[in-house]
Amino acid sequence: MYQLYRLRELGLNVRVFEAGTGVGGTWYWNRYPGARFDSESYSYGYSFSRELLDEWDWSEHFAPQPETERYLNFFADKFRLRENIQFSSRVEAARYDDDKQRWEIMLPDGRQHTARFLVTAVGPLSAPTYPRVEGIDGFRGEAYHTGLWPKHPVRFEGKRVAVIGTGATGVQAIQEIAKTAGHLTVFQRRPNWCTPLHNRPIDKEEMDRIRAGYEELFARCNETAACFVHTIDPRGTFEVTDEVREAFWEKLYSEPGFGIWQGNFRDMLTDRSANKLISDFVARKIRERVKDPEIAEMLIPKDHGFGTRRVPQETFYYEVYNQPNVDLVSILETPIERITPAGLETSERAYEFDIIVYATGFDAITGSFDRIDIRGTGGRRLKEKWTGGPSTFLGVMVEDFPNMFMCVGPHTALGNIPRSIEYNVEWVTGLIRYMREHGLAFAGARPEAVKEWTDFVKLKGEGLLSNEVDSWMTGVNQNVEGKQVRIIARYSGSAPDYRAWCDRVAAHGYRELVLR
Ligand SMILES: Cc1cc2nc3c(=O)[nH]c(=O)nc-3n(C[C@H](O)[C@H](O)[C@H](O)COP(=O)(O)OP(=O)(O)OC[C@H]3O[C@@H](n4cnc5c(N)ncnc54)[C@H](O)[C@@H]3O)c2cc1C
Repeated sequence: MYQLYRLRELGLNVRVFEAGTGVGGTWYWNRYPGARFDSESYSYGYSFSRELLDEWDWSEHFAPQPETERYLNFFADKFRLRENIQFSSRVEAARYDDDKQRWEIMLPDGRQHTARFLVTAVGPLSAPTYPRVEGIDGFRGEAYHTGLWPKHPVRFEGKRVAVIGTGATGVQAIQEIAKTAGHLTVFQRRPNWCTPLHNRPIDKEEMDRIRAGYEELFARCNETAACFVHTIDPRGTFEVTDEVREAFWEKLYSEPGFGIWQGNFRDMLTDRSANKLISDFVARKIRERVKDPEIAEMLIPKDHGFGTRRVPQETFYYEVYNQPNVDLVSILETPIERITPAGLETSERAYEFDIIVYATGFDAITGSFDRIDIRGTGGRRLKEKWTGGPSTFLGVMVEDFPNMFMCVGPHTALGNIPRSIEYNVEWVTGLIRYMREHGLAFAGARPEAVKEWTDFVKLKGEGLLSNEVDSWMTGVNQNVEGKQVRIIARYSGSAPDYRAWCDRVAAHGYRELVLR
């Protein structure tokens, strides 16, 4: 939506194709119970319009999905964005026509559009995936994927409910569904390290204080590595005494948000012994909170250290397993073999359910690209180009795909994503403005520039413990064919370094691109 706003401002004729029936993207589709931010609400909103900042009040430090969806609708209405958005329009294919130097965009009903520029904004987490087991379509009860949640209310009262998946989404959904479900069975493949969110409401006075500090807040976000409000602590884990370290971690554990992940000691994600120590700390917390020692052990990750995968944030998640109406099943030990009309079968036994919730996540980062047949010069397919891992220039351009610009593409800075989106959009807008001012119609990434950036992304991933772990951040999804091998799926350097590189390219007149 921000890209639309900026391009329209440039005077371009812009059309947005959106698969959904409304605006909001992530916050339109993920309306499952418990869905909410793990970014601080006020750090997530758009920063470019003072008017928008003045007109919108956040009601909680970590807003729930309905509020964020309202915010994005407010944004769309305020800037009359809907006029340029064509809803219920899933793009199936996009082909670059070498002769006409135009993109052709194809919709399933046969409609076709042409454009000089193609900007993709298809989302890093927007291609939902289901477990690869048979029988999913044959279930007689209600079944929902969290990322395709219906608009009508789903009632769990008195029902036998299964939740499959304990990633960030599963954790949020489980703690909410457990409040009313007759019986809830959680099917866990791998536990994640979860830490308390410590959410709370924002009253008028606090919102006024936040509003007065917006400028400083966004400046701080832009200085931090991942654009969150939290800053990595410059100390090393072993540079402080045991007492100081323990007190620091107790403080982080009791504070809101990602501080314990994004504001921890600088070596936590690179030094194995440092990582082991913080993992032991969080494991102790889990053992304190879960009454049954066997269940507690099931909930403590053994295959990866704290923070090496995205840390789900929770509110009484662990206490859910002390409730008599909740069971935990390890599907590593007893895999789900099939979904049956009545429920599901693991290798051990059959279960009956009224509702199955698939909290099985997304084909991340490249998944939404893979679902479109994108072909560049000479009919080259993007999906094939990226077999074995993406290669891009700044995460924005791809060799052989001229005039295609990615917003939140692979190998761009992510973190607190809207901060990166705003920068990404402004960079693309700057390039298009430059092209118009210089009478240029063609922009292609030079192969050497792509190689240099892709090598830099790989270099930045070296030595990171997170790159030794299977996760969506390393491009692994056991439910997607061809995604079982780890790749460098994302840029893990700092956002300020990323912006510095992009700024340099613009300042030097985009020498890394073929422009004509
Ligand atoms: C449950 C959840 C919670 C999250 N919480 C946070 C958070 O707290 N902080 C944070 O920084 N990030 C969070 N994220 C990441 C979130 O995806 C980004 O913050 C942000 O929404 C990305 O914006 P986007 O516009 O790039 O993509 P999206 O919001 O995913 O929007 C992409 C849009 O493209 C559409 N689309 C995709 N393919 C096609 C096609 N072929 N044709 C037409 N339309 C298509 C989709 O329908 C969607 O509307 C969360 C993600 C999820 C799933």
